[in-house]
Amino acid sequence: MLADQQILRIPGPSPIPPSVERATIQPIIGHRGKETSALIQRIKPGLKPIFGTTQDILMLTGSGTSGLEAAVVNTVKPGDEVLVIVTGAFGDRFNSICKAYNISVHRYDVEWGAAIDPDTIKTYLKEHPEIKVVFSTYCETSTGVLNPIQELAAVVSQNSNALFVVDGVSCVGGVETKMDEWGIDVLVTGSQKAMMLPPGLTFIAVSERAWQVIEENEQARFYLDLKKYRDNLAKDATPFTPAVSLLFGLEQALKLMAEEGLDQVYARHNLMKNMTRAAFRALDIPLLTDDHAASPTVTAVKPADFEAEALRSVLKAEFGLSVAGGQQHLKGKIFRIGHMGYCSPADLLQTISIIEIALTKVGKNIELGKATRAAQEVYLLQEEV
Ligand SMILES: *Cc1c(COP(=O)(O)O)cnc(C)c1O
Repeated sequence: MLADQQILRIPGPSPIPPSVERATIQPIIGHRGKETSALIQRIKPGLKPIFGTTQDILMLTGSGTSGLEAAVVNTVKPGDEVLVIVTGAFGDRFNSICKAYNISVHRYDVEWGAAIDPDTIKTYLKEHPEIKVVFSTYCETSTGVLNPIQELAAVVSQNSNALFVVDGVSCVGGVETKMDEWGIDVLVTGSQKAMMLPPGLTFIAVSERAWQVIEENEQARFYLDLKKYRDNLAKDATPFTPAVSLLFGLEQALKLMAEEGLDQVYARHNLMKNMTRAAFRALDIPLLTDDHAASPTVTAVKPADFEAEALRSVLKAEFGLSVAGGQQHLKGKIFRIGHMGYCSPADLLQTISIIEIALTKVGKNIELGKATRAAQEVYLLQEEV
């Protein structure tokens, strides 16, 4: 195998565009100087259309989970009742964070691989008017499900006074998100998924309504206190030393997204989803999720007659190609292909044809080229956007 060649097709961290990588290696600048505030000033407007909000997007140094924890400690306090919708490992993480802070959790479980049906939440919210916040996951990375967040937001606002908090870590930047229009109150994402950056930043946007709750919430918090970030950001600053190198990279990543056009970015992700799904379907290899629930950023495959882990080993050992395994009870039962951020149809054709070789090596009898061809056909049939 060619040394130093890694093909990273896991659902985060995802590969970095060369120009973003180069941007991150600029000499460090003082975080309280004019250059940093000018940099933050340039970054601010570029993030808004990605979130679909007029609010400033807060930037915290920390992984995505710090953003989830910030969403919890800022909006609720011990004893408050919340609803956590769990469609996989990341819904489960919201539940664990709430539990750690002694929040009273109503947990609503959905079978892993399925999306939440917003209607099922209606009656629940009406029967539990004490619920102050509803937590949910936009793309459930552990299953490759894209939950219907727009519909869910409507159900929450029509049937309760609760805030609606969304974990968009593995899709914001790759999937259309209209925070203001849909009625999302807190939206979190991370740098290392569809945002084309290394790990280390989390982004949080907050609605006016949520700010009122946050102002009055007496839950103790310090580093994760969003008011500090808001007040500093208004002056183009951060309360603590930001990951300056990642901010350099962010400016460049935003430039690339604007150059491609956000609509094209979203169309590219959708096309990659369709190509991936068509490839496995052509080989009669089952997918974990139905078409209507499938995420444009990650696809989960559930083999019936070969070992997912054996396939992953061949991919990694012979081609340096990493795909992810399953989490929790799906460990060993599925594998997941990340197609988000700096990933194109060309990359996927490579991934799919390599997987065909590996399938043959793990003993699955397939006609070579059949999956690649199916993906090629999807590519050729796409409508111009
Ligand atoms: C990756 C991810 C996170 C954050 O994970 P970190 O490792 O803390 O960055 C949160 N939610 C979802 C849905 C994710 O995919």
